[in-house]
Amino acid sequence: MKNNNLYYNKEIETMNRGDLDSLIDEKVKYTIKYAYENSKFYKKWFDKNKIEIKSIKTHEDLKELPIITGDTIKKNQPPSTNFFNFKSAKNKNIVTIHETSGTTGTPKSFFLTENDWEKYIEKYARTFKSQAFKSNDYLIVCTSYGMNIGAESMSLAAKKLKITTIPEGKCTFPIRILKNYKPTSIVGSIFKFLRLAERMKENKLDPQESSIKRLIAGGESFSEESREYIEEIWGVDVYNTYGSTEGTMCGECTEKKGIHVPEDLIHLDIYNSNTETDPNMRLENNTPDSNLDCSESCFLKDGKEGKMILTTLLSKEDKAGTLLINYDTDDSSSVITRKKCGCGRTHMKIDNPTRDAETINIFGNSINRVDIEAGVFQRENMEYLTGEYESFLYGNETENTLRISVECKDYSNLNKKIVEDNFLSSFLRKNNDLKEKYYNDEFEIIFNFLEKGKLEFYKIKGRPKRLIDRR
Ligand SMILES: [Zn+2]
Repeated sequence: MKNNNLYYNKEIETMNRGDLDSLIDEKVKYTIKYAYENSKFYKKWFDKNKIEIKSIKTHEDLKELPIITGDTIKKNQPPSTNFFNFKSAKNKNIVTIHETSGTTGTPKSFFLTENDWEKYIEKYARTFKSQAFKSNDYLIVCTSYGMNIGAESMSLAAKKLKITTIPEGKCTFPIRILKNYKPTSIVGSIFKFLRLAERMKENKLDPQESSIKRLIAGGESFSEESREYIEEIWGVDVYNTYGSTEGTMCGECTEKKGIHVPEDLIHLDIYNSNTETDPNMRLENNTPDSNLDCSESCFLKDGKEGKMILTTLLSKEDKAGTLLINYDTDDSSSVITRKKCGCGRTHMKIDNPTRDAETINIFGNSINRVDIEAGVFQRENMEYLTGEYESFLYGNETENTLRISVECKDYSNLNKKIVEDNFLSSFLRKNNDLKEKYYNDEFEIIFNFLEKGKLEFYKIKGRPKRLIDRR
């Protein structure tokens, strides 16, 4: 039986498609008006390109507006400009300021109003509800607190649902936390769960015997194979969340067949990966039509993978601190379905997003870190491997070598052939061109089996880079 308790905002979360689309269009109109009235960047863009804001009436019309990137934000804030051109609320309405560096470079500034926070919290609250959290759940948050808003908004969402939070901020907490408080859930990442399970076993606590009922993975993409392995060693479901300081917060429900996008709060379009995303050029050229010629080819049909482009949607009276319209997330995904989900929610579901920064090109074939991970985590391999890996690509126009380094559980008990064969069949199965080049000796894959602690990334601070292009 579906009852109110399964949802955070039942009316919105289960709204039928027609009503939901109308609601979105209503919000698009207000959002555009707000952008024009409150954002220096958008006012300038609309004026220069002579776009009547009243002509933007539906979410389809967003396709005629520029795509902005992290670089656009950086070029529109100090030191590049005197003002924060994307800041879209008065100082008195801003409650926090955040910086996000993404993967590289100068941080981008984000200003948040009370309203923004309320919506961030609502998005996570809906996700938690969809993952069957109840008020008697105890949640350890392993995500770091600070300039990134993830951990903080999750904690506030949990508080709203009366879930008890244990705000560790990292996943290296003492095992007694698990023994003493008997938490039911952990927010972390696939590799944090892998290492924590290892540490628990060393401390005589079998993850399967622990109080944990579900794990919430976020912060980075992962392969289905690694998820399945984590689910097996913990004996619980692993649910996915996708979120960033820019305001994307999407969550996977207990059906585990895609990540729900809160469509009334974020509008998401999937663009062709080749779409040009430099509106500064257009601004200077003042050619309002130059961005329209791709309206057919730029937008992908459901099921096709491409760039995730998001727009914050505002309701009347809402104030956004940093309003983003058509923002390139630097992540890729595809729409799985817009039909009603088994959980009762009607909001569309997308595939697990992958980071564009973790995609490399080998002879015109896009390979993401997750493709490598899927090969490593083949179930039979996990008898010999810890799951930790890193990979490097070397080569030139005619020859490429992919070197995969894997960490072994026990170097003296290792079947290299099994690991290599499983990896190759998983990796090459997905790509006929690379398979052909592999058997023609144009593309080489070599394996490097290492003892625990010997991978290169252990020597480098920060999040491990697992796919490195050394060409
Ligand atoms: Zn669902």
